[in-house]
Amino acid sequence: MTNIMSNSIELARPEIRKLVPYSAAGYGDGMIRLNANETPWSAPGQNANAGLNRYPPEKPAELTDRLTEFYGVEPGELLATRGSSEAIDLLIRGFCAAGQDAVVICPPTFGMYRVYADIQGARVQEIPLLKAQGFALDADEIARNWPADGKLLFICSPNNPTGNSIPTDQLNLLASLLAGRALVVIDAAYAEFAAEDPTLELLRSADNDNIVVLRTLSKAFGLAGARCGALLGPENIVSMISCLMPPYAFSSPTLEAVLASLTPAAQAEMASRVEVICAERERLATALETLPGITKVWPSDANFLLVDAADTERCSELARRGGVLIRNFGWQLPGSLRITVGDRSDNDRLLESLAEL
Ligand code: PMP
Repeated sequence: MTNIMSNSIELARPEIRKLVPYSAAGYGDGMIRLNANETPWSAPGQNANAGLNRYPPEKPAELTDRLTEFYGVEPGELLATRGSSEAIDLLIRGFCAAGQDAVVICPPTFGMYRVYADIQGARVQEIPLLKAQGFALDADEIARNWPADGKLLFICSPNNPTGNSIPTDQLNLLASLLAGRALVVIDAAYAEFAAEDPTLELLRSADNDNIVVLRTLSKAFGLAGARCGALLGPENIVSMISCLMPPYAFSSPTLEAVLASLTPAAQAEMASRVEVICAERERLATALETLPGITKVWPSDANFLLVDAADTERCSELARRGGVLIRNFGWQLPGSLRITVGDRSDNDRLLESLAEL
């Protein structure tokens, strides 16, 4: 399959489109490396497999190849990033000139879109999800009132903190309506926990070339501590954004850890763990619904539940007394809590703590 090239590249900052990335010292098999100002010995106390006195690869080629296979895209269509958070940051830096361009977000949603936009000096326009319709996307409003300075639309699906997925048809339609006006960023951090993973359908849709998808190994894969995610999309966008990453971005220990978890055996184990989490999610939801003081448990396609409670502070306090931390979302959604689905004993502990309600 030939890779898609996106016209959305024209929305990017002109100076970034022309950027010449740093060129780092090379490696040569069997060659003594006196070209990178390293030291010949590893630091005392180090016994990691990778000699930590040496820089890691300038670009993580092996990791990129494994992730490309894993997500089923073509070579050139994936950039490995340090968590999907980094991809959010790089996209905003690449597409939004400070004081000039804007991003559109759909709250309540993941807070880092706004933080990175604020850091970059990009204006943030909010087009809220429709709570009365189960936090549906207000696609008509987005397409009709797309701001003249808008460059990026962030849509999180399944959405954090509400847990619902946005239908793939709607995402495709919205992207085609915004063609030439916006790059649509679908943050699919929780896709593994949903019934369907729309990543390839979105990237392969014939009608649009202005979608990129963000994935992460921090959630279903259980590698939050390693900091690894990916930006998937048209080759020319991936290539331009890759120029914004520093050389040697992935440390040698991180590369080792992530590659060890991308083996077929590790992937199979990951898939069965996702099933366990999804079963626990339903068990926890059913049990929470019976508690007095819990007014609603929202349906979830992710590894957390959005829960409305008569007194969220009391719920948090009871959970804390039982040794469990849950997240009060009052600042975005008054009266709501977000509860991550743990293993069976973690969830039991939470339910016991809340039994006093
Ligand atoms: N997107 C969403 C929707 C998230 O909830 C998170 C983490 N909570 C991230 C992205 C970032 O995760 P990471 O950088 O670990 O990939």
